Amino acid sequence: MKFYIMTLFPDMVMDGLNTSIIGRAVNQGLLSIEAVNIRDYAFNKHNSVDDYPYGGGAGMLMQAEPVFQCYQALTERIGRKPRVVYLSPQGKTFNQSMAEAFASEEELAFLCGHYEGIDERVLEEIVTDYVSIGDYVLTGGELPAMIMVDAISRLVPGVLHNDVSAEFESFQDNLLEYPQYSRPEVWHDKRVPEVLMSGHHANIEKWRREQSVIRTAKNRPDLLEKAELTPDEQILAKRIMEE
Ligand code: SAM
Repeated sequence: MKFYIMTLFPDMVMDGLNTSIIGRAVNQGLLSIEAVNIRDYAFNKHNSVDDYPYGGGAGMLMQAEPVFQCYQALTERIGRKPRVVYLSPQGKTFNQSMAEAFASEEELAFLCGHYEGIDERVLEEIVTDYVSIGDYVLTGGELPAMIMVDAISRLVPGVLHNDVSAEFESFQDNLLEYPQYSRPEVWHDKRVPEVLMSGHHANIEKWRREQSVIRTAKNRPDLLEKAELTPDEQILAKRIMEE
């Protein structure tokens, strides 16, 4: 899968994405990540890409033309018009289902805003998706883009060693993942739950499912509205939420 990240801070995104699992997947050719510097398309001698907002107000705004030129150069070079995700606190909140949907694309472009954002007119022309990573305001779209690239990349076949689609993970089935333990068997006087040492797969599955329901009821009861629970699990969840 190919990612193109239009940004004023290419080093920031590339440094952050060139390590660990994502960096290895890039080296293996499973992913390609390219940061495109919007400043290369500045059209004045000061190399600036921002200006004051009409109507007044605090801060500066990224201008339409450098962003548009950057996008045009990209689409001409790759010969296609990819989906363009504008990272914005005003977008739809990113979640695992969105990551799954984006992971089926062959390529994706991200547009990172900075300062007070980007001139609305260029957004209207090039953006296909507005995505927020949460209800707070950051200084730029670089960290959100990196978060999205990370979450989407790990769903691309081969990026993780195990087949992630076959594994249970948080948000699958609208439940959070159960607690996990590794060696040693006892740590700080805390023992690994007996059932996990039993080798009895059916009991382990049953225990994990129950723990997922308990954990979700405690931490994210909102998710349970869409989860498919058995009558027993519904009673369990209700009891936990009332505690
Ligand atoms: N003035 C904008 C507003 O109130 O909606 C906020 C601009 S913010 C300071 C600068 C840039 O950071 C945005 O253009 C966007 O690209 C990025 N950004 C900030 N918070 C974000 C969030 N929660 N999710 C995604 N991108 C965000």
